[in-house]
Amino acid sequence: MSDIMSAEARSRLMSKIRSKNTKPEVRLRKALWHRGLRYRLHADLAGKPDVAFLGPKVAVFIDGCFWHGCPEHGQLPKQNRKFWREKINSNTTRDEQVRAMLEGAGWKVLRFWEHEIRRDLSAVVSAVESAVATGR
Ligand SMILES: [Zn+2]
Repeated sequence: MSDIMSAEARSRLMSKIRSKNTKPEVRLRKALWHRGLRYRLHADLAGKPDVAFLGPKVAVFIDGCFWHGCPEHGQLPKQNRKFWREKINSNTTRDEQVRAMLEGAGWKVLRFWEHEIRRDLSAVVSAVESAVATGR
C-alpha cells in the first residue's frame, strides 16, 4: 500500500482542515454572543471544547464532518483508505473518552456536526441556550 501524498503535503492538508477558528465554530460563537451568552473559548478542559460555559458546566464541540466521521459527509477518500479509517476511528474513540471524562466531572457535553451549523444554526443555538439555562 503506497502512500500517494507526501508527508509534507499531508501535514499541510491536515493543518488546513484542522485549524482553529474554523468557520462553523465562528458562526456559532457569533450567534451565541448575539443571544447574550457569554462563554469561554478553548477552556483548559478535556478535549478542549470549542465553547465552554464554566458556571453551568456546559461544553460544546463542533465536529468536522470529515474528521469525526459524520454518517452523511464522512466519506473516506479513495486513496489511503486504511490510513484515513484509522485516523477517523481514533478521533471518534477520543471523542467518546472526552465525553466520558467531562460527564464524569459533572459537565454536560453537546456535540454538533459542522453541517448542523450550516443547515440550522438557530436550532443549535437553542439547544446550547437551553442546556446553559438548565445548568444555571
Ligand atoms: Zn455532516
